Amino acid sequence: MASLGSLKSTIFDREERKQQYQAHIRGLNAYDRHKKFINDYVSFYGKEKPSNVRLPIKTDQDTLREGYRFIRSEEDDMDPSWEQRLVKRYYDKLFKEYCIADMSQYKSGKIGLRWRTEKEVISGKGQFICGNKHCDEKDGLASYEVNFCYFEAGENKQALVKLVTCERCARKLNYKRQKEKEQLEKRQQEQDRRKRNRSKSDDDLDEFQESKERRQKGKRATISPSDHKIDDDDNIDEYLEGMFP
Ligand SMILES: [Zn+2]
Repeated sequence: MASLGSLKSTIFDREERKQQYQAHIRGLNAYDRHKKFINDYVSFYGKEKPSNVRLPIKTDQDTLREGYRFIRSEEDDMDPSWEQRLVKRYYDKLFKEYCIADMSQYKSGKIGLRWRTEKEVISGKGQFICGNKHCDEKDGLASYEVNFCYFEAGENKQALVKLVTCERCARKLNYKRQKEKEQLEKRQQEQDRRKRNRSKSDDDLDEFQESKERRQKGKRATISPSDHKIDDDDNIDEYLEGMFP
C-alpha cells in the first residue's frame, strides 16, 4: 500500500516528466519528433502492433531510474502517462493514414496504391519522403486525398487515404486528368471561336455560363489537400501538429 507521501511524489514525478517531455519535443522538427515518438513507442509498448496483446516489457535504465516499475502491469495500461498516450496516439494514426503509390503506368492514368509496411511507417516513407515507390524526394512534399480500393479479410473495401508526393510525382498523379482537361479546353476554345464567328451579338451570356460550369468541373476534378480534424485530448494534438502532411 502506497503512503500518501509517495503517492504525492508519484503524481509530481509524472507531471515533471510530462513537462520535460513537452519541452524536449517542442524543440524538434517534425521528422525528428517522428523518430523520437517511434523510438519511445517501442520502449513503452514493445514492438507489437497496437491491437495485439501486449506482453510485459523491460524498460531501459533511464526509465527504471525515473521510477517505472520493471514489468508493466495491467494498471499501467489502464493509466498510461501523458507521454505514453501521446506516442500511442501518434503511432496508431500512422497506419492506414498514408499509402504508397506505384506510378509506373501513370501515362494511362493507372496509379497502384498499397498500405505502407511497418518498415516504411518507421522510416517515414510516404509521410516525410515522397510516397512514390521509386522516389526518395524529401522536399516540396504535399499530400493529396486519394480513393483507395483494397481487399481485406475477404472483402472489397474503399477508403480516402493520403498520398504524399513531391512536385514531380504530383504531376504524374494528375497526368491523365490534366491531359484530358487540356484537350477539353482546346475543344471548347475551338467551339467558342466558331460560335463567335457565327454570331457575335447574342451569345455573350451563354459563353459566360459555359465557362463558369467548366471551372466548377475543373475544381471537382482536382485532388485537394486534405483537411483533417482530430478531437482534442489533453493538448496531445498540439504536439502532433505539423506531423501529418
Ligand atoms: Zn516523388
